[in-house]
Amino acid sequence: ESSIVTVHGKLETATQNYIGGIARMKKVVKFGGSSLASAEQFKKVGNIIRAEESRRYVVPSAPGKRFSADTKVTDMLYGCYAAAENGEDFTEKLAAIKDRYQEIINGLGLKFSLDEDFEVIRKNFAEKAGSNYAASRGEFLNGKIMAAYLGFEFIDAAEVVRFDENGDFQSEITNEIMSARLKKAKNAVIPGFYGATEEGRVVTFSRGGSDITGALVAASINAKLYENWTDVSGFLMADPRIVNNPKKIKTITYGELRELSYMGASVLHEEAVFPVRTSGIPINIRNTNEPENEGTLIVSNEIKHENTITGIAGKQNFTVLSIEKSMMNSELGFCRKILTILEQNGVSFENMPSGIDTVSVVISDSNLKNKTEIIVEEIKRACNPDSVVVYPNMALIATVGTGMAYTKGVASKIFTALAESDINIRMIDQGSSEINVLVGIENDDFEKGINAIYKAFN
Ligand code: ASP
Repeated sequence: ESSIVTVHGKLETATQNYIGGIARMKKVVKFGGSSLASAEQFKKVGNIIRAEESRRYVVPSAPGKRFSADTKVTDMLYGCYAAAENGEDFTEKLAAIKDRYQEIINGLGLKFSLDEDFEVIRKNFAEKAGSNYAASRGEFLNGKIMAAYLGFEFIDAAEVVRFDENGDFQSEITNEIMSARLKKAKNAVIPGFYGATEEGRVVTFSRGGSDITGALVAASINAKLYENWTDVSGFLMADPRIVNNPKKIKTITYGELRELSYMGASVLHEEAVFPVRTSGIPINIRNTNEPENEGTLIVSNEIKHENTITGIAGKQNFTVLSIEKSMMNSELGFCRKILTILEQNGVSFENMPSGIDTVSVVISDSNLKNKTEIIVEEIKRACNPDSVVVYPNMALIATVGTGMAYTKGVASKIFTALAESDINIRMIDQGSSEINVLVGIENDDFEKGINAIYKAFN
């Protein structure tokens, strides 16, 4: 526990944990599909869970890929159900899914059969129970195997995760039902990814949604920690396809994570963060294949006072419209007019940095489509600016770190690094949260720019 305690710096928490003993410590452990793709992976997971008594509630995904060309069970289920819905014979497709589970059961040496479950599934597929129901069986069945393997109680997520009739997730009632139910279970397996309406119709979250279930379980029992086990040892400071062997991020705040994942870094389901973030429960990203690695800890607040940053991420293909007009700052409604034009053209924008007499609008090319000319014309007509300059083929790089608001020189370090690499900065924006410096450079300079910033801080 020492890592968590240090991060929070809360001595009283440490003392309470010590006095309360391990029995009062509760952790939720979520395992992704690749961690549960085979019996061999299940064994690693079993060892991890058994290594700590506090790992009391387990949220499994469906079996994922065993090798890169393999198919996830969830995708097999969608495929099988599509055949059923078309009135095709889906016997073989369902048998292939059953084989995946049987291989795991055999490999674990369990005396456990899913025959009855598969009979129910076959019937429900034939009766067109819906693709949400179909997909959810991946987690449901894996959860049953996991519970049998660990000797934990199995709790069907349909019982404890609630959606309304429109398929919208209901957080408050879920929290109530889940926490009441888990009070009665010392150890349990709760399958990820789905829940049900009050009438029992199964609804799934979006793809990758087991992360969300894990967070819900953690919030409902006020867990000390939500461990999210996957196949990477946490987040890296930069994309390893761009930077050679980037350092791992040891600790990151929810805010930093949001900035970085918005800019394209991804490990965790976006929505998974909210339930635990509100309750202040840290998330630990861990690697099932490298359990001794401490991974990355996501916390609500951490101020790094050193002259350092947490991570760098970026995206390509933006267009920047740079609008200039003297005395713009005293003109009423200037920006509103620009935004109205974008809105009327159905174009959303990413950023809008402004100076005294200038304002830029950053728009991703996929949003802009081919509307640049129309929009520029309309801005000229409505705002009468001195100039509108269009910068196409732009990339954005976000350098993120909570320390920035408190340390001098971070921004200058970024700009110097880019200048020294002969990269032109077209736009600079420091988000109002002051944990992010955004620069706009040319698409062609993208990888060079990320490397330059990374090197400046490492
Ligand atoms: N099995 C589901 C998917 O493939 C959900 C998850 O793994 O989190 O999207």
